[in-house]
Amino acid sequence: MELWYTEQHTKNVRFSIRVNRQLYSGQSEFQRIDVFESPEFGRFLTLDGYMMLTEKDEFIYHEMITHVPMCVHPKAENILVIGGGDGGTVRELLRYPSVRHIDLVEIDEMVVDVCREYLPFTASCLDDPRVDIHYEDGLRFVRKPVDVYDLIIVDSTDPFGPGEGLFTKEFYGNCFKALKADGIMINQHESPFYEQDAYAMQRMHQRIVHSFPFSRVYQAHIPTYPSGHWLFGFSSKNRRPVEGVDFARWKSLGIKTRYYNTQLHAAAFSLPNYVEEILEDV
Ligand code: SAM
Repeated sequence: MELWYTEQHTKNVRFSIRVNRQLYSGQSEFQRIDVFESPEFGRFLTLDGYMMLTEKDEFIYHEMITHVPMCVHPKAENILVIGGGDGGTVRELLRYPSVRHIDLVEIDEMVVDVCREYLPFTASCLDDPRVDIHYEDGLRFVRKPVDVYDLIIVDSTDPFGPGEGLFTKEFYGNCFKALKADGIMINQHESPFYEQDAYAMQRMHQRIVHSFPFSRVYQAHIPTYPSGHWLFGFSSKNRRPVEGVDFARWKSLGIKTRYYNTQLHAAAFSLPNYVEEILEDV
């Protein structure tokens, strides 16, 4: 008998992956956690039935959420990652010698435990001495720090369930406060393609625009996320994501990547007209 994992993307669209076997299924205090093994995408993690990452295409998401700000900021030392309990974002950040300390704030300890056991390709770096894991709601965590972080990466689930608070004005305002004067916030910015997602994405963008003096959006192509067209937000107090960036400095670090490169960095901020229209209409 064939086994398939199916995710409902909209009322009218489903996405399916053939599965060899289910490796784990459990319910935490916050969400249902499943891990599958598949012939095309390798191992993959879902939360409440929604795709979080696959072994085959996680590099695209984790490289684009990390290397874009790390190329822009010449010396990011103190970093906050909110969500991201799979460890993929932390793994990419730890490749930089400038990084001294990472606070990883993940609401669900069980996600980290399951990823450590079944997804070592993303989770194995979580024991690095530069990483402090806090099992706490990110919305609460950011109420305290002022002028502390060079970079905040919001690697969250979607705007419902435990992740809902990470899409509020209160949260973005506190991220602004927690950043140093030259700091950057990056957030996973959802997909613009299906109408219901585009509406949620637009509301999020509106809140960010009201919280930061500067914000832009960039894109990547991620096959296992709804529509395959994914966005990230770049917000800052004064840094620009392309103009004035020392791309030669990043190249001189010799960091080997599979998706990210400096030409693509600049190009990723050029968005299709229909996306610009959604973003302008806030
Ligand atoms: N790459 C993924 C995506 O966009 O589909 C995100 C992956 S990562 C697994 C998302 C993590 O955010 C989950 O482990 C979830 O438990 C965590 N999370 C959700 N809400 C949170 C909150 N309020 N505070 C901290 N972590 C949260």
